[in-house]
Amino acid sequence: MNEFKLPEHLKKIERIFVDSSMMNSPLALRVASRLPELPLEPVETDDGGLPEVMKNLEGDAQYLYLKEYKGKFLRFCPGTRYYHCCGYQIIHIGENCPLACSYCILQAYFQDRIMKVWANQNDLFDELGKSFSAEPGKRFRVGTGEYTDSLALESLTGYSNDLTTFLESYPNVCLELKSKIIDLSWMENLTRTDRVLPAWSLNAPYIHDHEEFGTSSLEERLSAARKCAQNGFRVCLHFDPIIRFDGWREGYSRIVDMIFDYLKPEDIAYMSLGSFRHMPHLKQVIENNFPETTYIYDEFIVGKDNKMRLLRPLRVRQFKFIVDRLRKYGMDKQLYFCMESSENWKDVFGYTPADLGGLNNHLMKQAFGDKS
Ligand code: SF4
Repeated sequence: MNEFKLPEHLKKIERIFVDSSMMNSPLALRVASRLPELPLEPVETDDGGLPEVMKNLEGDAQYLYLKEYKGKFLRFCPGTRYYHCCGYQIIHIGENCPLACSYCILQAYFQDRIMKVWANQNDLFDELGKSFSAEPGKRFRVGTGEYTDSLALESLTGYSNDLTTFLESYPNVCLELKSKIIDLSWMENLTRTDRVLPAWSLNAPYIHDHEEFGTSSLEERLSAARKCAQNGFRVCLHFDPIIRFDGWREGYSRIVDMIFDYLKPEDIAYMSLGSFRHMPHLKQVIENNFPETTYIYDEFIVGKDNKMRLLRPLRVRQFKFIVDRLRKYGMDKQLYFCMESSENWKDVFGYTPADLGGLNNHLMKQAFGDKS
């Protein structure tokens, strides 16, 4: 039997809380079997909020909370009507992340850092089953990496493995697993490789070194992506957030070159580019949590979605530079922007999402591997 080894980024877990209704759930039992030295601590919640025992936990220890979630599991990504959103749907499996990227939007979304995982998987699978079978002709592009990293807790929970196994009965669903760590255990037992898109976020080496803590190295992410491609999967990559720093041209050139040391363009289903943008109050949170960080003092203005965005000419200059380099390697219609206007699409790509038949529609085809 393989001995369970806790990955480095989970070594600070000190306590595991479980809703008392979930103490015997398969997920809680699995976590208990993988981390037997930590007892499961039952908690009660009347209103679905944070139980008293978890309020005011201090220090840099990590806490895991296996919760009976009462909300909707399948949701639309919180895009905005002012910019082009990729239109994928979120499978909500939990909140917060054990990794620490200075730019992480979750710092603004959630008041606490407790890693919550929805333990009532039966409810999740019931809801998903009903939604995905209601219109069998309808296709879904879904992902779990919106309110947490898709794989950061995988070694403890096996959530993605459960989900990929469940989704094998729904060929109209394509699941993206977005992460900054390496865990390919979800691959075990899968019979088809064309409905899961493992995805990694990448950045310039300087940004990885200075702004991403606890994550796998860029080389590790790319070797995992290559392993997926060798096993018949196509992968997704994300350049988000793109940040300005002294030497950004060299930095982004380097990571683009690295990608093609490991992958061929046809291994990549799609790749997003998104410039650093943030809700105004995230700046103060970043200042407090990551006092060394300087990119938050760049030239931002308030966008139509009320988020702070880098001045348009500066964004477009970075996008053009990176897209040119990606195109030299043969990347083309797999590239898209996360939350940009038609004007910026036209300036950088030479066409708009409308020319592609709509971004959601276009990415659906890319995800399902439709031949054009
Ligand atoms: S890996 Fe993603 S979710 Fe986790 S801290 Fe970094 S940006 Fe946030």
